[in-house]
Amino acid sequence: MTTATTTPAAVGRRAAVDLAAIREQWGDLLAAIEQPPAAEWPPRECRGFLDQLAARDADLDEIPATAAIGRMPLVLREHPAPLNLDALDAALDTERELFELADTLAAAVQRSVRRALKPTRPGRTAAVVDGADRTDPARWHYASPTDPGSRAFGLHWAAVWCEGRALNEASGDLFRPVPLRLLDEVAAVARRSRERVERALGRDARTTTLDRLCPWCGGQLTGRTRAGGESSVTCSTGQACTAPVRADFRGHRAWHGAELVDLYAAMNVGSQTPTCP
Ligand SMILES: [Zn+2]
Repeated sequence: MTTATTTPAAVGRRAAVDLAAIREQWGDLLAAIEQPPAAEWPPRECRGFLDQLAARDADLDEIPATAAIGRMPLVLREHPAPLNLDALDAALDTERELFELADTLAAAVQRSVRRALKPTRPGRTAAVVDGADRTDPARWHYASPTDPGSRAFGLHWAAVWCEGRALNEASGDLFRPVPLRLLDEVAAVARRSRERVERALGRDARTTTLDRLCPWCGGQLTGRTRAGGESSVTCSTGQACTAPVRADFRGHRAWHGAELVDLYAAMNVGSQTPTCP
């Protein structure tokens, strides 16, 4: 719900951030459909966390995170033999929800196609559809039984188009501002869809007790991943832990983001493969 402290612009920005996160991970999700689902070992919880560490390593190597997307098919198509049904379900649900969201938005804020009075024969005029306005690529085109309309361009375009409406981007007089109640709905759908995509990719928020002890004090380590946020690991010992990293508000040593690479390296001294419980 929009409250007095949450402005429409802030709700719109939050929706746009979630929509952008969906389309940025769309290529990964489509690729996941064609991969075998989570293997038995290591357990999903551990692997999700370690994947994030690997991603962080990749970032440090300055490999652009979007490098693979250009090679991915960005339109969901029929998979004769999908290997990961969870990923396929997530993709189908997300695509359907975003297409329906665009339909709803267009019905509420998109101006009807203009008609212009044109002379048809001497002394007579008729209202004729403005062809250029009707085919304006900035419009959302509804699907019909014979034409997929804007859906032909896939989820990516639907997300971009909805982002534009959420941010109230102008396009002449084609769109009206999104009413508040509908803006809340856009934000809710975007958040739910983003969570679904990230869950299917093992990138949702989770807390994992690592089976490796703190390399500096032997305390228990707890890993946390947060959807769209920074991963962290906390040592249970408190101030007595000598790890060279800042303490959190409770006085526990905590590694965030790039600092995890140092912890990961220290954990792996004398051991090649991290394991899970
Ligand atoms: Zn410690």
